[in-house]
Amino acid sequence: MLQSKLFAPTLRETPAEAEIVSHQLMLRAGMIRKSAAGMYTYLPLAWRVLRKIMQIVREEMDREGGQELALPIVQPAELWKESGRWDVYGDEMFRLEDRHHRQFCLGPTHEEIITTTVKNEVRSYRDLPLRLYQIQNKYRDEIRPRFGLMRGREFIMKDLYSFDVDEAGLEDSYQAMYRAYNNIFKRCGLKFRPVEADSGAIGGNASQEFMVLAEAGEAVILYCDQCDYAANAEKAVSQVQVSDFNGAVKEKELVATPGHKTIDEVCRFLNIQAEQTVKTLFYGTGSGYIAVLIQGNDQVNEIKLGNVTNSKKLYLVSPEEIHEVLGLPVGYVGPIGLDGQIKILGDNRVANLHQVVVGANQEDYHYLQVEPVRDFVGVDYYDLRMAASGEQCPRCSGHLHDLRGIEVGQIFKLGTKYSKALSANFLDEKGQSRLMVMGCYGVGVSRTMAAAIEQNYDGNGIKWPIAIAPFQVHLITVSPEQLPVAKEIYENLSRQNIEVLLDDRDERPGVKFKDADLMGIPIRITVGPKGLAQGEAEVKFRATGNEERWPLDQIVAKTREYIEKCEQ
Ligand code: ATP
Ligand code: MG
Repeated sequence: MLQSKLFAPTLRETPAEAEIVSHQLMLRAGMIRKSAAGMYTYLPLAWRVLRKIMQIVREEMDREGGQELALPIVQPAELWKESGRWDVYGDEMFRLEDRHHRQFCLGPTHEEIITTTVKNEVRSYRDLPLRLYQIQNKYRDEIRPRFGLMRGREFIMKDLYSFDVDEAGLEDSYQAMYRAYNNIFKRCGLKFRPVEADSGAIGGNASQEFMVLAEAGEAVILYCDQCDYAANAEKAVSQVQVSDFNGAVKEKELVATPGHKTIDEVCRFLNIQAEQTVKTLFYGTGSGYIAVLIQGNDQVNEIKLGNVTNSKKLYLVSPEEIHEVLGLPVGYVGPIGLDGQIKILGDNRVANLHQVVVGANQEDYHYLQVEPVRDFVGVDYYDLRMAASGEQCPRCSGHLHDLRGIEVGQIFKLGTKYSKALSANFLDEKGQSRLMVMGCYGVGVSRTMAAAIEQNYDGNGIKWPIAIAPFQVHLITVSPEQLPVAKEIYENLSRQNIEVLLDDRDERPGVKFKDADLMGIPIRITVGPKGLAQGEAEVKFRATGNEERWPLDQIVAKTREYIEKCEQ
């Protein structure tokens, strides 16, 4: 490709609307343009990258028995009503009506339609397993579309659905996808980690996410420094040591703590540590309230709480609501005397504490020397806390550390959730009707492109991993005199299927180098008068900044060699 013809409108300034690096660089490098919040046009450079990612995804899906198909984006509401998700999906679903006032949606995901397609055609166990996938736009009216392609409202996803005869079959499909996903992100040249994930709203009972490690990641990962345990912080557990208690158990004591409401204030006033307190928090569930007990220095994990209470609409109750609706003294609430009035859940750790301080449910008073097991009545204990860096691994004696990650893929065992709702049955060897056992597996293709940039950039621009770079070689001339030689190199490389962008523009070398750094093509080959005099070209690798000189007649061979080395 000749750069003079390339439609890549670069920008000198960083657009103010872009908060994160990938968004800024994709705008500046002329890769994307916004059409509406969370909706983008992919210009040719971006589309070249996306096509490469999609090609890698296709090859890895096909290798594991995936068959590509294409499902409609516009889906009838009836299907979603049948599965029960039309009402559950809420505002994230783009809904529309046709001229006959029939309701439709733009597919945010495709379980309903694929399950219906398969159940209409598959009768016998002989037709299973099936692994069907597509690569297509998805539509989700995200509450906060942001960060460019990271959280779009229209984005590209690969989604595969597996249909098996039993749990063992599902396990095979799940492992196949686990392998495929590892290969995909490895081949894309990314540093990533599979982590245990919450399977929350989609349902099912096992799930892993693939996280590209990058500072800009919205997700926090906790991983063990000794074994391979790694989990999304939403899901992570740890072994927390509660110090041995060998003091004397005392009677609880009511003390005045006038005006001291927060954990900090109470601790300072009583000269104790936050670990010696138990907080009582109130959550609304949509259909009522619950109280949650947690050690003073711990955080409630709202995903775990949502799973335990089976509630998708949890919200932390405001002080006003505690006062007005629950009639409790804000700042002095505690579990003693609450049982019977409200459902109380406690974090497991609380049950092991001794001599703690809690609010007394009286304005200006707390209790001291409280024994949770003795004094709290009607509490159900679960793991409800956020695990934290520094705590012991749940599997071994190692310790947890944290990292930030960008979720680029997620795999789920769905079980029979959708086959049951949509009656996807088949006849087994004995002629008995059984439900298909399903899994679903998504790769965020457009998000992967953004994540690749978040992991590979510097102050001058992008540093594409070669496998997904828009071009492999950026060929630059210092002045128009070298164009004939450059064109010959261009032809030689192109004949070997090496993708070259030849900067044939009549620009100063400085401008060309600046644009080249911004676009981030991995191998930059410069043809200039000095090198030519010695029969050489200057080569600079974008990833490392290393420079070499290559004899003109070895350019093709050395480029090949470099590409092959990167692929290993
Ligand atoms: P998130 O937790 O980030 O909202 P999700 O769990 O809802 O994502 P899935 O339904 O698992 O997403 O979708 C599969 C993949 O699609 C995700 O791993 C992610 O890479 C990508 N994806 C999801 N939502 C978006 C979005 N709004 N913009 C871009 N990519 C997305
Ligand atoms: Mg997810």
